[in-house]
Amino acid sequence: MTTENSTAAKKAEKLVAVKGMNDILPASVPRTEKLPDSALWQWFETAVRAVMGRYGYQYLLTPIVEPTALFVRGLGEVTDIVEKEMYSFVDSMNGDRLTLRPEATAGIVRAMNEHNALYNGPLRLWTVGPMFRHERPQKGRYRQFHQLDVEALGFAGPDVDAEMILMARALWRELGLVEGEHVRLEINSLGQAGERHAHREALVRYFQQHVAALDADSQRRLQTNPLRILDSKNPAMQPLIEGAPKLLEFLGEESLAHFDAVRATLDAVGLAYRVNPRLVRGMDYYNLTVFEWVTEQLGSQGTVCGGGRYDGLIEQLGGKPAPAVGFGLGIERLLLLLQELKLPVPDSAPDVYAIVPAGVPLPAVVATLETLRGAGLRVLQHAGGRDGAGSMKSQFKRADASGARFALVFGPDEFAQGMVTVKALRDGAGAQELRPLDATAAWAGALKLQSAA
Ligand code: ATP
Ligand code: MG
Repeated sequence: MTTENSTAAKKAEKLVAVKGMNDILPASVPRTEKLPDSALWQWFETAVRAVMGRYGYQYLLTPIVEPTALFVRGLGEVTDIVEKEMYSFVDSMNGDRLTLRPEATAGIVRAMNEHNALYNGPLRLWTVGPMFRHERPQKGRYRQFHQLDVEALGFAGPDVDAEMILMARALWRELGLVEGEHVRLEINSLGQAGERHAHREALVRYFQQHVAALDADSQRRLQTNPLRILDSKNPAMQPLIEGAPKLLEFLGEESLAHFDAVRATLDAVGLAYRVNPRLVRGMDYYNLTVFEWVTEQLGSQGTVCGGGRYDGLIEQLGGKPAPAVGFGLGIERLLLLLQELKLPVPDSAPDVYAIVPAGVPLPAVVATLETLRGAGLRVLQHAGGRDGAGSMKSQFKRADASGARFALVFGPDEFAQGMVTVKALRDGAGAQELRPLDATAAWAGALKLQSAA
C-alpha cells in the first residue's frame, strides 16, 4: 500500500480553474468576483439571434484551436496579440504548432477560403464563442473571454460598413442600452496601404525628433510598429501623441469618399459619432473604416465592441482577393455594463412552484406537472429525494425564493378529493383557489395567460 492510499481519509485538494478563466454560473450560486450570471448570458444570446436574423446574417462555428501560422500571418507578427498574448503549444502527437484562437476573424476567413465559400457570392456571417489571450486578468479583461463576432465577406461598399455599425446599435436597443448615453460610437479611417505608408514615415520622423520623451515600450514600438505608439495607454505619452501627424491628413480622394459615405449613412439614420483620428486597432489587417463602441462605466476596459474593414486579409490567407468588414464584441464587458447600469432584465423565474407534502403519490403529481408543462408553463417541482419532502414551511420558503408567480399545493386532503390548490405568490399574494386534477389541461391554459400578464 502506498502512502497516498493509506491516507485516503485525508481530504482531497480542491481543484480550481485556470487563472483568468471563469465559470459562467446561475445567479443562485454565490461567487466573489463580479461576473455576469448565466441568465443574463442567455438573454444576450436571444437578443443577438433576433438582431442577426433581422439583418440576414448566418450562423457558423469554427474550431477553437487553429494552426499558429494562421494568426501570425493574419494578425501580423508584431501585434500585441501575436507577440505576447497567444496560448500556443506543440501537439505532442505530431509536432504541429497550434494556438487557442485569440480572435475569430482569422479562423472564419480560413474556413471560407478552405470551402471556397465566396464562389457563389458574398456572405454575411456571425458566431459566438470563447477567445484566449494571455493578459493580466482584471475586471473586464480575462484570459478566456467570449465574443460575438460578425463578418461580411465579399462586400466593397461603405453601405456594409454602416450596416455593421447599425447592427450593433440594434443590439444595444434590444438590450435597453441607449447609444450616446451608455455607449458611444467612435470612427476613423485607416486609408489604404500607400496612404498609411506615407503617414508612417511622417510619424517616424516626428517621434524620432522626440525620442527622449518616449517611454520604453514606445521606443521599442518605434523600431517595430510605430503606429502602435498611438495606442499607448500611458498618460505621460498623451500630449506627444496628440501632436503627432494624423493619418486622416494623408488620405487620398477614394479613401475620403468611402469614409464620407459611411458618415453620410450614419447621419441619415441619426446616429451620433465622434471621429477619433487616434483610433487604431490591435490587428494589422484593418484598412479604411475602423470603429469602436465605448463606455465610460467600465474604467480602462471601456471598449465593448470594435471592428472595421479588412480588404486584404482574405488574399493574405491564400484566398481569392475579396473585400470584407466585421466586428468583435466582448460579451463579458457588455454584460458587466448591463449589470452596472441595472437595466431591467427579462424574468427567468418559473411560473409555478409545486409544493409536495410527504404522503402524496408522486407519480400522480408528476403527471399533473407534465400537463402544465405541456401547456407551456415553466414548472419547478419541489423534489424531496432521500431525505423526504421537507416541511411545508421550508417548501414555501423555496417557492418564494424561486420567484415563481404561483405555488401549486398538493395538500393530502384536497388530493384525496381530486383537487389541488393554486396559490398566488406575487401579485395578489395569498389568494388561492381549488382546481380539479382531472381537468388540468383546461385550467393550465388560464394559468399560462395569467403568468404571461
Ligand atoms: P483592448 O484594447 O481592451 O485590449 P482589443 O482591441 O484588444 O481590446 P479586440 O481584439 O478588438 O480588442 O476584441 C474585440 C472586443 O473583445 C474588445 O472590444 C473587448 O470588448 C473584448 N476583449 C478583448 N480582449 C479581452 C479580454 N482579454 N477580456 C475580455 N474581453 C476582451
Ligand atoms: Mg487587447
